[in-house]
Parts: sequence; structure tokens; C-alpha cells
Amino acid sequence: MAVQIAMDATSVFGRDASDGSVEIAPDLAYKRESIVNVVFVGTRSSWVLVDTGVAGSASSIKGICEQRFGEASRPECIILTHGHFDHIGALLELADGWNVPVYAHVLEHPYLDGSTSYPSPDPWVGGGIMPLLSPLFPTKPVDVGSRLRALPGDHTVPGMSGWVWMHTPGHAPGHVSFWRESDRTIIAGDAFITTGQESAYEVLVQRPEMHGPPRYFTPDWNAARRSVEQLAALNPDRVITGHGPALAGAEMQRALHELARDFDTIALPRQ
Ligand SMILES: [Zn+2]
Ligand SMILES: [Zn+2]
Repeated sequence: MAVQIAMDATSVFGRDASDGSVEIAPDLAYKRESIVNVVFVGTRSSWVLVDTGVAGSASSIKGICEQRFGEASRPECIILTHGHFDHIGALLELADGWNVPVYAHVLEHPYLDGSTSYPSPDPWVGGGIMPLLSPLFPTKPVDVGSRLRALPGDHTVPGMSGWVWMHTPGHAPGHVSFWRESDRTIIAGDAFITTGQESAYEVLVQRPEMHGPPRYFTPDWNAARRSVEQLAALNPDRVITGHGPALAGAEMQRALHELARDFDTIALPRQ
């Protein structure tokens, strides 16, 4: 049985918006598409989509964007925390439809330019969720072609003023997280997650918990530990992760520090 840090429901943060998203701030919201969160950053005058959900999510995501940002509106760009199948499912459809660039860390580019695929997830580490998800795996390497761009070397984030990107590898080589100092908010991707992701039951129930990165896909646990330490050291007030509800407050901070301190016991697979 996985070790995790159970969270009080009062740590769950956000307000249900009329467009179907959960709003964290006037210019920040997220929506769970099947098993994974997509994040909307910005206002009607300028906005960005962070991650694109599993395959089949495009029309739902577009529907929220139209309500949130206006009908003919399109983002400045799409930004990826990393290139795993559950974060790039609607990528091609959305990027082509909006005709916008796609930003990702250069170390993720081989997984996005058609040259290579991630190794298959390890079903023995993950447990019951893999058979559920396998129809969603891409059958060939994803290729976003000439839309692909590298995140700027100065750590600014295109279309996301006030945010910086941080390289938080481990779960994927070019995994990045985003940090906004003004309201001490992290968009963590899968560097750590806030619900169980390793059985169909956990995915269904979405109990708020503090977890290391999803085990079935994480190849470098030393890097993953350092990434969690780096994010915990920021002492964020609010976190939005790739899987699970947004969390805020002292209980979340305590749990994140506990995860960083006892990472090997809490996050690492037993094998
Ligand atoms: Zn992932
Ligand atoms: Zn994920």
C-alpha cells in the first residue's frame, strides 16, 4: 500500500466558476479533464493554457476557454509542464485550431518533435490504473512540428507575466513548474501531486492527499526528490498540481515539507 499524507478537506482551495473551472485567483483557474488538470492563466485580454489533458479533452477545454476568455479568443501560447500522454492528449488539436506556439523545456522536445517516445509506464509499480489508461497512450511519438519552442533562458514565461518557470526534473527529464511570488502560488505539474493516482478507486475518489510524482512514470527518483525540496523551500501558499485538487494553507505547507523531508519513505516505490 502506498504511503501518502492524508489532507484535511479544508485544505482544498478554489471557487467553482460558472465556466466549469475551479478558480484560484481572478486570473488563474484549473479544470480536471478525466484524470488530469489543465490550467488557465490570464484574463480576457491575454491568456495561456498550461497542459492539455488526455486525448478527447479538446472540445471541453475549448468550451471553458470560450466562456472564460471570449468566443473568438485564443491563447498567446500553450505551455507544457512535461510531455506525458495525459498532459498532451489534446495538444495537436488545440495548437492547430488556435494556430499558436507550444512551449516546453528543451529536454522534453525529443518527446514532442516526433523523434522519440517515453518508455512504457511500469505497470508493476503503478498497480490498477494502467489497464484503465492504456487506451489513451499515443501509438506513435507526438510531433508538434514547427510550433515547438524552448522556454526562455531567463526563466520568464511567455504570456504569463509575474510567473517564472523552474526546472523540476525527475518525473520527466524536462519537467517544469511555475511560481508566482505575488500570491505565492505554484503550478507544480506532476513534480508532486495532491491525490492518489495509482488505483482506479483513488482516481475516482480524488481524496486530497500529498504525494510524490506518479510512480508509474518516474524514472529518476533522486532528481524527483531534489525537485520537491526545491518547491517546498518556496513555502507556497497555494498549489495546483497535475492530479488532484488545488490546496492552500498551513496544512498543505506542513504536508509539502513532510513530503520533502521524508521523500524516500513517502514517495519511492517499494521495489
Ligand atoms: Zn506525468
Ligand atoms: Zn500526469
